[in-house]
Amino acid sequence: MPKCPKCNYTLVLLEKRMKYKCAKCGRLFRQKEIDTKEFAEWNKKERRKEETEAKSSYSELCGKSGL
Ligand SMILES: [Zn+2]
Repeated sequence: MPKCPKCNYTLVLLEKRMKYKCAKCGRLFRQKEIDTKEFAEWNKKERRKEETEAKSSYSELCGKSGL
């Protein structure tokens, strides 16, 4: 579930209005905006995971070759 950028509370989707509403602070956000943000963050997280994995296998290689 997407979180409110302002207060980090779970957002509720208003399907008819194509908007997300925060039940805590009452702010409205465009569905597209939030979905894009959610996807970008997920993407970043996935990329970071790959980087960490690549780094650890790299240092493993270095250790084995004695560099
Ligand atoms: Zn909020």
